[in-house]
Amino acid sequence: MLVNVAIALGTLLIMEGVAWFTHKYIMHGIMWSWHHSHHNAHKGFFEINDLFSVLFSGVAVGLFVAGLEIPSLWYLAPIAAGVTLYGIGYFVFHDVIVHRRIRIKFNTKNPYLLRIMRAHYVHHKVHTRDGAEAFGFLYAPKKYDKK
Ligand SMILES: [Zn+2]
Ligand SMILES: [Zn+2]
Repeated sequence: MLVNVAIALGTLLIMEGVAWFTHKYIMHGIMWSWHHSHHNAHKGFFEINDLFSVLFSGVAVGLFVAGLEIPSLWYLAPIAAGVTLYGIGYFVFHDVIVHRRIRIKFNTKNPYLLRIMRAHYVHHKVHTRDGAEAFGFLYAPKKYDKK
């Protein structure tokens, strides 16, 4: 049990690195045609960019099924749990708190949240594939604190 929790939490941390890498080198690279929709005004509720979430969910489901069905691959199940937790954290932070796709009242003085929110606003100042910064989501370096 403890091993499972450790693997899930470790995966959660690694996922921020995976998300950062994907965002910086893939979404702002070869997959800009999808991510573009998230950096520019568009019609309707959904964005082509949402397909990335669908893709990540598919990966998590695949890992869950393999981890639960194949005894020797048991560790894939807690990895899938970590990926899913990250996905939830990402969605709540990125889509609800920053981009307000679901209308809720939310005000925070939490320094950690303010820092990652600020970092993501900085990321969105650039509407092109190149030249953006702050590719992380749930972690941002200290320089994004309000001065
Ligand atoms: Zn971006
Ligand atoms: Zn965004």
